[in-house]
Amino acid sequence: MDIQAMQKMLMEKGFIFPTAEIYGGLAGFFDYGPLGAELKRAIRENWWTGWVWGDNDFQIVGMEGSTITHPKTWDASGHLDVFHDPMVECAKCKGRFRTDQLLEKKVRESSCDGLSLKELDALVKKHGVKCPVCGGEVSESRWFNLMFKTEVGAVNTLEAYLRPETAQLIFVNFNRIVKTSRVSLPFGIATIGRVFRNEISPRNFVFRCREFEQMELEFFFNPGEKCASLKKIEDVEVNVIDRKAQEEGGDGQARKMTLKEVVRHKLTTDWHAYWLGNSWQFVTGLGVDPKKLRLRQHMKSELSHYSADTWDLEYHYSFGWKELAGIANRTDYDLKQHAKASGVDLSMPLSEGGKLYPHVIEPSFGVDRLVFALLEDSYHEENAGTEGRQVMKFRPGLAPIQVGVFPLVNKDGLPEKAKKIVSLLKAGFRVFYDASGSVGRRYRRQDAVGTPFCVTVDGQTLEDGTVTVRERDSMKQDRVKVEDLEVWLRRRVFKA
Ligand code: ATP
Repeated sequence: MDIQAMQKMLMEKGFIFPTAEIYGGLAGFFDYGPLGAELKRAIRENWWTGWVWGDNDFQIVGMEGSTITHPKTWDASGHLDVFHDPMVECAKCKGRFRTDQLLEKKVRESSCDGLSLKELDALVKKHGVKCPVCGGEVSESRWFNLMFKTEVGAVNTLEAYLRPETAQLIFVNFNRIVKTSRVSLPFGIATIGRVFRNEISPRNFVFRCREFEQMELEFFFNPGEKCASLKKIEDVEVNVIDRKAQEEGGDGQARKMTLKEVVRHKLTTDWHAYWLGNSWQFVTGLGVDPKKLRLRQHMKSELSHYSADTWDLEYHYSFGWKELAGIANRTDYDLKQHAKASGVDLSMPLSEGGKLYPHVIEPSFGVDRLVFALLEDSYHEENAGTEGRQVMKFRPGLAPIQVGVFPLVNKDGLPEKAKKIVSLLKAGFRVFYDASGSVGRRYRRQDAVGTPFCVTVDGQTLEDGTVTVRERDSMKQDRVKVEDLEVWLRRRVFKA
């Protein structure tokens, strides 16, 4: 299914809408409907419980930062200076476009990163790039800073910014968190929150929007120490495209390697490999097909100003391989920058004596890109029966609705019995009651939104206390006693 058809289907089913559609929407902003909001919540919870409260060898604590913070934060972090994209304007229609995106059909996408405006303009000239809307001539490029500005207060207003990433709030609260949680190296600080980027051309639905959500972990460690925890996951296999393979022109094929091999071949450090592996396992654990995932190392020219090494966890969306998450080695860059700008010492005492500015590995997930990957990955069209069916094959634990409950007919006490079952199940599952249309149509409706189990109450239920439970993927039906239903479902919904 192409992205337009997918977008239409997701709107019609109640997953994601353009914001304020009754006023024509606003480019780059989306609202999540009842099903999308549930899916998003389930993903966030999965990440939070798995990473913050998971069975780790070290402590990971959570925090929530404010959306607007002191503007000096963005000066020290480098965002005021370099968080920008190159932009051209059409002389005729006045449309504005990202220069590197205009070039992407002519040159490899990542090869524009790190080029100066002059170099980009030379490529525009060389390839005769024109306005994609009206064919007009485009201007020379200029930098466009992606941070949204706002004003704080009514008098003596302070110019401030909506945060473009959550990570900086972790760095500026570092001392407080370290003191209050009594953590010692290595440890992590995790956060989930909304961020804002005034993207020049938002596109590909929720893949590139102007307001989105991030789940970021800053993992602090002593670079002089080995990552003992890697041992636990060193045999995990990942698909890898390293920098050298790209330099040699091998843009397409990823190599399957274990994390142990990644480190043995010196593609990255042990700490970095550990978080590459954890990020991989998190996404595959949600049910995303590993064949559609790869870890691509940034070319030197692509690296952000703070990064010594970055790997993108890419998913094969319907519009190609694209970044789903970034796993960056931020070194001690941010803590040192904030220490310098604020005059506050942000180093940590070491148990063996002395002090250290810890280094940081940052796995950063865009929640919306993950939701979208999961939606694309879960969507199936099948020729079951005469009608065929659309099925969203979400893992049962993630499904927006986990159990549908139907009375076979709307009489003979069946609706009352079915509603009692709804009350029984609501404490443990996301349950939806549906009494309209034929049972076959009700099954199809639930298949299309990914409900893994449907319970039907019929005449036999009143006689022997059993219901039919129908499973979404196999369409197999079982007869289960009402008194066993909760445990029966619990085993299947939360097993994976
Ligand atoms: P891109 O190169 O695609 O613009 P980025 O490298 O600037 O992304 P990061 O700054 O590394 O992205 O942000 C971390 C994560 O936030 C990304 O991996 C992605 O999942 C998400 N993200 C970034 N920009 C957007 C956006 N405009 N819309 C939705 N998610 C985004």
